[in-house]
Formats: sequence, C-alpha cells, structure tokens
Amino acid sequence: MGGLVEGQTAAGGCLCGALRYQLAGPSLFVSQCCCKDCQKATGTGHTTIIGVHRSQLTMEGTPATYTNSGDTGGSVTRHFCGTCGGRLYTSGDLPGEFIMIQAGSLDDPDLIAPESVIYTKDAVTWDRFDPALPQYEAMQPRN
Ligand SMILES: [Zn+2]
Ligand SMILES: [Zn+2]
Repeated sequence: MGGLVEGQTAAGGCLCGALRYQLAGPSLFVSQCCCKDCQKATGTGHTTIIGVHRSQLTMEGTPATYTNSGDTGGSVTRHFCGTCGGRLYTSGDLPGEFIMIQAGSLDDPDLIAPESVIYTKDAVTWDRFDPALPQYEAMQPRN
C-alpha cells in the first residue's frame, strides 16, 4: 500500500479520452478527502487524491477549470474534462506547489492505496474507510 515511488510512472485520463496525462513518482501522500467540496465536485462521499509536485504531471490537452475558495481561505482550482466532466486534478494556493491528482483517473488506480483519511469532520455517515488508516478532522499536518 502507498503511493508512487521514485522512478515509477503512471498514465491516466478522463472518461472520454480527450485528456491524457503522465504522472511521475514519487508521490507525497495519498489520502481520502471527505470535505464538502469534494462531495459536491464528485457526487460521492469522498475523493481519493495523490499529492505530487506540479512538475511531476505532464498533461496532454487542456482541462476546463473551476475555482472557488478553499477551507483555509486560499483559492482552489479543479481541473476536469469539458466534454465528459471527468475530474483529473486539483491545484491551488497550497504550500510547496503541490497538486492533487484524482486517483480514479489513473488507468490503473490499483497502483496506489490510501494512506490517510482527511476532513473527517465533513464525512457522510454512510461512507466507510479502512480503520487501519490514520484519520484527521481537517487537513493532515505536514512538515
Ligand atoms: Zn473527457
Ligand atoms: Zn476535499
């Protein structure tokens, strides 16, 4: 279980195939995010995100974007396919220039496994998580 390791690459894309990407390891974290915005943006109980540095993502095609204000006041931009609506990644005013890839957009999502659950304060009662994973009320503290 865990994220992408150094030297590992993974391909992904949207549902219709108009947008494709290559992702280079290592990933910084893999989390299940239960925040309200992820619920609304995906129509599900949570989204699974892979944190990487911006430079580790190579996009083919230009995603549509939607920007709003995040939990900590900074802007958050969601990148998705304008044709099929498939979510690809999220960027924003985040420390360290990192972005969050939507794990379900990988061609092989089993390449990774969640390492933590974040924003449990917003989690819906019917969502279920591996009890072995560390859980955080909001963002996972990092150093
Ligand atoms: Zn698409
Ligand atoms: Zn979220």
